[in-house]
Order: sequence, then C-alpha cells, then structure tokens
Amino acid sequence: MHEMSVALAVIDQVETAAAEAGDVTAVRSVRLQVGELAGVVPDSLTFCFELACAGTLLEGAELVTEAVPGRARCTACAHEWAVGMPPRLTCPACDGTRTDLLTGRELQIVGVRWEDGAPPPHAPTRAPIPEEC
Ligand SMILES: [Zn+2]
Repeated sequence: MHEMSVALAVIDQVETAAAEAGDVTAVRSVRLQVGELAGVVPDSLTFCFELACAGTLLEGAELVTEAVPGRARCTACAHEWAVGMPPRLTCPACDGTRTDLLTGRELQIVGVRWEDGAPPPHAPTRAPIPEEC
C-alpha cells in the first residue's frame, strides 16, 4: 500500500508541474530516485504506478527508478560506510551509535520527459482574432 501512495504522489507532482508548464499533452517517462532505506520496493512501485496512471495525463508513461545506496557517517570519528540491507547503523570503526544518514532516504523525481502541444509544421498559423467594437 505504501507504494501506491508513493505512486499517487509522483503522479500528482508531475501533473502539477505539467499544468504549470502549460501545453503538455502526454508524459513519456518519469525518473525517480529511490533510496535503499526509503522503504519502497521498485518493482512494486512500477506496478502501482502503471495502475494509477490510467486515465491521467501520465497514462502509458514509463517509471524509471534509480536506486540510491544508503550511506552513513559516524558523528564521533567521521567514518563513512555503506549501510547495506538490513541497514547497519553502528559505526564499524568505533562502534559509535551516533550516526548521520547521508543518503538512502531519497524519494524524489529527478526528471520528467513529456510532449507539449507544439503545433505540427504544417498547421495553419494563428488566425487573427476579430475585434468587436
Ligand atoms: Zn565511528
């Protein structure tokens, strides 16, 4: 269920951006960074995304997920390590437990490809609008 709410949030953000951009007629693909610790299963998210896109501007769009590995840094000794899965959050160098998570919680759109309503080359040029006096 978490993936479905993420998918809906992604669609919502893209639709908002498309509305601000104006003439967007179709969305081709969405690139999303998914941190290793974000609690989202990419395959499941892709599945939910396809379902949730039906009937929206994003129908048929491809969701491209980029996995971001989790990294942590020890506050005490500044050692950095890949936390892995399941995440290791105690410092492997000094056993410190005060750590900062540097990366791994990402869940953000990093790119969207869409088509705008640019007129085809042979479309009639803009007709003058008659002014009513
Ligand atoms: Zn340490």
